[in-house]
Amino acid sequence: MTNNTSNNQEYDAIIVGAGFAGLYQLICLRDQLGLNCLIIETGDDVGGTWYWNRYPGARCDTESHAYSYYFSDELLKEWTWSERYPGHAEIRKYINFVANKFNLKKDILFNEKVINAKFNENSNNWSLATNTGKQFQSKFVIAAVGCLSNTNIPNIKGLDSFEGKYYHTGNWPKTGVSFVNKKVGQIGTGSTGIQAVPVIAAEAKHLTVFQRTANYSIPARNAPLSEEFKDHVKKDHNYYKEFLKRTPNGHPFEISSRLVSDVSTEEMNQIYEKAWEKGGLQFRATFNDLVTNIDANKTASEFIKGKIRQTVTNKKFANILSDIDHPYAGKRPPIDSHYFETFNRDNINLIDLRSNPIMHIDNEGIQTKENHFNLDIIVFATGYDAMTGPLLNMNITGKQNLKLKDCWKEGPQTFLGLQIPGFPNLFTITGPGSPSVLTNMPMAIEQHVEWVRDCISYMSNKNHSSIEADQKSAEKWGDEVNAVANKTLLPTVKHSWYLGANIPGKPQVFMPYAGGLPKYTEVCDEIKNNNYKGFKLA
Ligand code: NAP
Repeated sequence: MTNNTSNNQEYDAIIVGAGFAGLYQLICLRDQLGLNCLIIETGDDVGGTWYWNRYPGARCDTESHAYSYYFSDELLKEWTWSERYPGHAEIRKYINFVANKFNLKKDILFNEKVINAKFNENSNNWSLATNTGKQFQSKFVIAAVGCLSNTNIPNIKGLDSFEGKYYHTGNWPKTGVSFVNKKVGQIGTGSTGIQAVPVIAAEAKHLTVFQRTANYSIPARNAPLSEEFKDHVKKDHNYYKEFLKRTPNGHPFEISSRLVSDVSTEEMNQIYEKAWEKGGLQFRATFNDLVTNIDANKTASEFIKGKIRQTVTNKKFANILSDIDHPYAGKRPPIDSHYFETFNRDNINLIDLRSNPIMHIDNEGIQTKENHFNLDIIVFATGYDAMTGPLLNMNITGKQNLKLKDCWKEGPQTFLGLQIPGFPNLFTITGPGSPSVLTNMPMAIEQHVEWVRDCISYMSNKNHSSIEADQKSAEKWGDEVNAVANKTLLPTVKHSWYLGANIPGKPQVFMPYAGGLPKYTEVCDEIKNNNYKGFKLA
């Protein structure tokens, strides 16, 4: 990889992060607006979340034909996915294909982490510093740091004394990890843990799964794509381009308009059965009111709990796995490949941390209240300091020495998840307050990146040198984010990472915008068409 920059260079725009967002932002600003740009990236290659997430079973939950950039017809024609859900290695191939096709790597500085970003009021630009001491100046900073990039290893007493190896799934060794003949413990049963369990259990001598909150999961039914489907996607990509933009979560399936109460119990069960067989996230699209009406939701929740009990033959495990305390899809709904079936193996154990919590870790393994588990490897599938963590990690200081961490001590405040009052010329891609994690990410990313491009282009045409979210606009937008979330069941799940509840001490605020990508895009477009109403331009 080329690190072609000398110290203290000046740029029109510095983009932080070389994932889906950062790469497309570089194309928009460098190739379409002709700006002098640089991406600074911590890893030694492109990929963002997929650079770091190489854990066993890591696979995208969005169907491959939708988990793609849609900005280039040529790219859509040139690339062919092989499976219904793309695996992590294939996604890295794709993102490298994009980076090479658009000649992006020459403007990426790899192996450098931004550890400080400070706005200079006198010169109206940003100074950035990296972990190796490099300094940069830039008029604009675009934080394309991802929503789920700040890994969370819980602070469990004694972890340092553990004599085996431990890994977080979001920081998985590039060389892989062998589980052959190993006794493995895995903490965490979110989307990641549910993907990892079947693959680890198939290789390890023994796997103990430590579950704090039982979780729903729908079979993914992953499979190779047929030649007909591959041809169809290439031929009809304009159809998907339009479809993905009009559907609330940017996924390639319709959300039904029918309510649970519109159908008989028999018909409802047939609909659930069919969706279970088809597999994937569209299970939650079977009825319109699953995420807004608790009674409707209960029917889906009970259906899935029934499936778990039917699948898992060990009654104790079946009870622990189906003892779910929140509505289906109230937390991010995982999909899996043989997760529940894996508990029928004879080399697996399941510990319910609610009744038997972890007390400490010692040199040999994990001590819970009731048992000690000797382990060679501990896998932390324990999630992220989501959405705000990656931004706060950059130690951002805005106008009048305003620290982002102070501004956000009660929770994030943004206008549209795109800008923060007091931090001029800093844009956040899929920031808190935007649809982001509630959508198919590439769709949300393309919308944000293009909005930022159009905004910078407008500023240049009108000779503006600074843009900043207005405080009142941000407050009003925060109210809207809350109001929309409160129409759903999502904020009722008090242990959800959408609220920051997984990180001790983190302010509990519902972070993503739940009104859907089309509605959100309409709001952003209206603001753009009104000369960036709600932002201060100077
Ligand atoms: P997560 O959903 O936050 O799950 C973390 C798991 O670790 C939960 O089971 C959590 O329990 C448990 N945990 C956390 N701290 C713990 C502690 N101190 N002691 C015991 N258990 C603890 O994280 P994730 O599974 O990595 O997924 C995060 C998000 O990444 C997903 O929701 C999804 O948006 C995304 N993701 C996407 C894909 C994809 O295919 N596109 C795949 C994987 C992940 P509690 O539930 O009790 O907190």
